[in-house]
Amino acid sequence: MALTFTNFTCTGFATTPDTPAQIHVADDGTVAAHAQPGAQVIDLQGAYLSPGWCDLHVHVWHGGTDISIRASEAGRMTGVTAMADAGSAGEASFHGLREYVIEPHAETIKAFLNIGSIGLVACNRVPELIDWRSIDIERTLDVIEKNRDVICGIKVRASGVIVGSWGITPAKIAKRIAEMTDLPLMVHVGEPPPLIDEVFELLGPGDIVTHCFNGKPAGSIRDTTALFKMAQDMADRGIRMDIGHGGASFNFRTARESIADGLRPFSISTDLHKVSMESPVYDMATTMSKLLAVGLPFDDVIEASTNAPRSVMGLSGAEGLRPGLRADFTAFDLADTNIEVLDSQGNTMVMKQVFEPRGTVLGCDWQSAARRLP
Ligand SMILES: [Zn+2]
Repeated sequence: MALTFTNFTCTGFATTPDTPAQIHVADDGTVAAHAQPGAQVIDLQGAYLSPGWCDLHVHVWHGGTDISIRASEAGRMTGVTAMADAGSAGEASFHGLREYVIEPHAETIKAFLNIGSIGLVACNRVPELIDWRSIDIERTLDVIEKNRDVICGIKVRASGVIVGSWGITPAKIAKRIAEMTDLPLMVHVGEPPPLIDEVFELLGPGDIVTHCFNGKPAGSIRDTTALFKMAQDMADRGIRMDIGHGGASFNFRTARESIADGLRPFSISTDLHKVSMESPVYDMATTMSKLLAVGLPFDDVIEASTNAPRSVMGLSGAEGLRPGLRADFTAFDLADTNIEVLDSQGNTMVMKQVFEPRGTVLGCDWQSAARRLP
């Protein structure tokens, strides 16, 4: 059924005027210039309306890995309309991720293909990158060619827990595959080996550093002045700093100091999985609220949760109100609060404001949404 939205404030769109009086969605799910006959009118009660929230780092290969949640748990029920699975599947099980997760869900789901063939099937118990037998270049190239419509990059976890003494080599192979296939590389950084500057030297514009504010000793951009300068230079050159909060990879102090010194993340993502969802991550709204609390301005939080990650997935962004485009929006409030939250190292912070998702629009389907925590 066609829809008409009233009583909202637009943010994240490049429209004139900033906020139209009404937004119309036609029966075919596209934005319409004029009211549609018989449309259902939805009063958004003064909420903000933005391009659909997009989470660039989740683990939703439920049943194919021990760590993944269901895509629905990371999706519309929490205000998210698009997400990228960050390397849960390698070439060996990508067909299952596609058939059972990517295709059936209403949310737009794409994936970074893990360079390790087995992906995260037994995450951190059976590492996906042990030695050269962990990577099958021909099969990886074949899976990429057959799934180009849903693969948005290559993923490599370049930290000691995974690669052990194999060091920087798997990241180099992943970068070579990314270059050969003209895809961005998403690299997870953390405890060495390899050192993060070894990883950074491989990257070019469009590549993504996830867990950018991890705060791990000898794995953090705040370890030395030179490393921080290197990260800033990379961001200036178009290398994308992604939050990837997760259970072990977001530190309030690292984030606060980095933002104060001028390094703003490209994208805000949760790294939601079974463990991190219970605490300390919960959902996208809480993660966005944490970034606001450590000093990222509201407009930048919205950009980093909508247009920036949506561009990586090839989705509409700031132009999303143009007639003819598929409707893909999130409605939310910014509410006063006093919630105490944790980072990945157990540090606490009291947030004064919190993003409260109210609902999402995908095509002509409106669904209500809420944060996971009261
Ligand atoms: Zn992850």
